Amino acid sequence: MSDDGLKKIISHAKEYGFVFPSSEIYDGLSAAYDYGQLGSELKNNIKQYWWTAMVRMNENIVGIDAAIFMHPTTWKASGHVDAFNDPLIDNKDSKKRYRADVLIEEHIAKIEAKIQKDVDKAAARFGDAFDEAQFRSTNPQVLRRQSEIDDINARFKAAMDADDLASVKALIEDLGITCPISGSKNWTDVRQFNLMFKTELGAVSGDSGVVYLRPETAQGIFVNYLNVQKSGRMKLPFGIAQIGKAFRNEIIARQFIFRMREFEQMEMQFFIKPGTQEEWYNHWKDARIQWHKALGLGDENYRFHDHVKLAHYADAACDIEFNFPMGFKELEGIHSRTDFDLKQHEEYSSKKLRYFDPETNESYVPYVLETSIGLDRMFLAVLSSALREETLEDGSERTVMAIPFALAPVKAAVLPLIKKDGLPEKAREVLAQLQLHHIVQYDEKDAIGRRYRRQDAIGTPLCITVDHDTLNDDAVTVRNRDTMQQERIAIADLNAYVDGLVSMTSLFQA
Ligand code: ATP
Repeated sequence: MSDDGLKKIISHAKEYGFVFPSSEIYDGLSAAYDYGQLGSELKNNIKQYWWTAMVRMNENIVGIDAAIFMHPTTWKASGHVDAFNDPLIDNKDSKKRYRADVLIEEHIAKIEAKIQKDVDKAAARFGDAFDEAQFRSTNPQVLRRQSEIDDINARFKAAMDADDLASVKALIEDLGITCPISGSKNWTDVRQFNLMFKTELGAVSGDSGVVYLRPETAQGIFVNYLNVQKSGRMKLPFGIAQIGKAFRNEIIARQFIFRMREFEQMEMQFFIKPGTQEEWYNHWKDARIQWHKALGLGDENYRFHDHVKLAHYADAACDIEFNFPMGFKELEGIHSRTDFDLKQHEEYSSKKLRYFDPETNESYVPYVLETSIGLDRMFLAVLSSALREETLEDGSERTVMAIPFALAPVKAAVLPLIKKDGLPEKAREVLAQLQLHHIVQYDEKDAIGRRYRRQDAIGTPLCITVDHDTLNDDAVTVRNRDTMQQERIAIADLNAYVDGLVSMTSLFQA
């Protein structure tokens, strides 16, 4: 899929009540979006899937809900006041602002695409005998391109590590990167831009009242490490999970809900004994990729990307990337954060944040393994892999949102075949029985085929039709969204039947 694919998703999401531009009657606010009636259900289901996997299924992980406002010293200690910057650069002709690192990454992606083209061509030529790994490690053109990429990465890393912004600009110039709008190479110098939103608390003005909107949820977990450990009598290793809003004044926020200035994170910090970080890093990489793949969005749509430039707090880090309509991009980060954060908070707060290990009689600052996923990006991953247009056997077309059943906003629709003969009344009885357990819609308007199409378009897994036979046999016809097969089910068995197909339990039994 392409940018065109993203446009289709944006318009479908709006038309059916998943995502609206924020404050649209005032022409919207750039890069801010509201989740509509179906979007908020889908979002809640994704949260529930994550929370269940983290908190409910692990006896040593608990959840918290910390305040968005935190003591400003938190952000001094975490490094965000001094180092949470993006390098920005302006094009003097178009007056457009870019992230310097993103311009360089996009340049690299173009070279990677050329390599992929070479690989695809060779694969087509050699057929079954093609050995991709061998081709990549021996073909001179591929090797030349790969070494070009390695050189760029090395130059960029060296410049950023040395905080040498002039060299970042020189790299952009040497690579001949042009502004996509003006096409010119007329760039300003590269500058650092702090991404935290600043505001003032109450009536206090001046520096003493400054607070920040949290740029990540993780720090709310770190400052509560000891509270949770003591009150929950937690033993290492243990984790603290949290879902909540985070705010970043992104230089360029775009690509729909992929990069916003207000977004939601689902983060889990896992506190471990120093020295065990490699084992837990691998454990959480496996656990997280399994969580993703269990949804069935397509295993080929995920890949790991190891970080070239490690953040100041990490000794190992990777991203889980997803194949979004605009290509493979970061969906989740897995970071081995060492004892950086807790040590910083010890220093800045003068409070001990240690763990007394009863087995060794030692006291130490735990190491931390973090998994951090953007809820909105996860939402976009689900939406973009679900939306498809199909041509059916009879030649007709349908638009279907193949959202995993367990995440679908509406689980079933109850449809009386016609609007009379007592069918609506019977259908409402069926509705009442299901509503106790799931979000279910009732629809009696238009021909049954059109009602099916409406439900397909919002991803409803099951359409339940009440017909004249229902009045005699107390059974209904259930149509499956994906197979379009119909099955006759006794109303007495309906709840169990629906549960079996749409409940989240199935995702944990794979
Ligand atoms: P990026 O490189 O895309 O800016 P990041 O590496 O800064 O992301 P992290 O700090 O690791 O992101 O944040 C963890 C997760 O939060 C990301 O994997 C992503 O899913 C999500 N996230 C980060 N920034 C945004 C944003 N501006 N809008 C939506 N989600 C975001």
